Amino acid sequence: MIAQSIFKQAKIAIEDAAQILLVVDSREGVAPLDEELAHLLRRTGKPLALVVNKVDSPRQEDRLGEFHRLGIDPVFFVSAEHNHNIAEMLEAIFSRPNFQQGSGQAAPEGSTVPGSGGIFGRVPSEEIRVAIVGHPNVGKSTLLNTLCGKERSIVTPIAGTTRDSVDAIVEREGTRFRIIDTAGIRRKGKTRMVAEKLSVVLARKHLEQCDVALLLIDAVEGITALDATIAGYAHEAGKSIALVVNKWDLVKKVPESTKQFEEKVRQRAKYLEYAPVIFISALTGQRVTTLLKLVRRMMTERGRRIPTAELNRFVNSIDFSRATVPVSRRARILYATQISSAPPTFLVFTNRRARFHFSFERFLINRFREEFGYLGTPIRIKQRMKKQ
Ligand code: GDP
Repeated sequence: MIAQSIFKQAKIAIEDAAQILLVVDSREGVAPLDEELAHLLRRTGKPLALVVNKVDSPRQEDRLGEFHRLGIDPVFFVSAEHNHNIAEMLEAIFSRPNFQQGSGQAAPEGSTVPGSGGIFGRVPSEEIRVAIVGHPNVGKSTLLNTLCGKERSIVTPIAGTTRDSVDAIVEREGTRFRIIDTAGIRRKGKTRMVAEKLSVVLARKHLEQCDVALLLIDAVEGITALDATIAGYAHEAGKSIALVVNKWDLVKKVPESTKQFEEKVRQRAKYLEYAPVIFISALTGQRVTTLLKLVRRMMTERGRRIPTAELNRFVNSIDFSRATVPVSRRARILYATQISSAPPTFLVFTNRRARFHFSFERFLINRFREEFGYLGTPIRIKQRMKKQ
């Protein structure tokens, strides 16, 4: 008798699936459960494949014949751990005609399909860890005070991970924002040089701990070399980031001032093209509420998961002739899957044993962004190549 829970799980998966892969363990031989599942699957009338996993050494090969007994065709002998035969298996599976019709898979809980769930998708129920970073005197402490004080927030200092680190919790419209290391934000260096060094050290530390970073830029000074350095660290850390132009109250506005300012910022921090730019005044509170809404939205986008079927339909629709990549360096994408979120990371299987050209990777990331948004967060792509 099939264990009830496995049976239930399998039943749901079977109903949604366009194809069904029965995965068995080569080391165990044909287990009674495999036979029952195989029997059940054959009755569904759906295209089947048998995946015999953990085939790691040639010594096992003598025993593999017994799996044909399950009556499922084709059979793939693979090692998921060693990436043996995986790309070949996927290529075979995804070139079957019924895949092109889509699997009708539902989005997993907590995720959204762009176009159907709106831009907000999953509303985070957990708290959002926010880092306020930037060079000395840019207004970090002032922003912290505005967030914690004036806006009637509930503020609870909580002991952080280190003895001198104190976080603040700001709650707004059901969302908890944890502002990391308020002691660090308030700490000032005695000399300019010390203050600058301290701001970089703290930025690196805070970037490690946060989900979303707010990089403050002084509206009067414009973007500085130090800002660009911190922006670089934010990008490397894989965190979501907003470029927050502070002291906007001091700027004499002319038509298009925000546009011009934004262009300059983008020139200096080219790799942060995904980061939104927002103009605030920490002192007067202008757009501080909007800033929190933006943080919340960035957190949602950061955690968005794209169902595999949806992702592959999209990848199949990409017009790769638009990629400016030498033909010799082009690779065909067989299959893609999202392996993690925050930051969104995709594993892409390709037919050639050649690393992506960086401009091809950029092209791909840009297409993903056009389709799925991911405001504020870097997108990472990992490539797995077919064995030759
Ligand atoms: P920190 O070193 O980054 O923490 O900067 P502070 O918060 O101590 O701010 C440095 C100076 O800039 C202080 O005199 C603040 O009053 C001033 N300041 C900060 N934010 C604003 C702002 O939005 N507008 C104006 N006019 N002054 C600001």
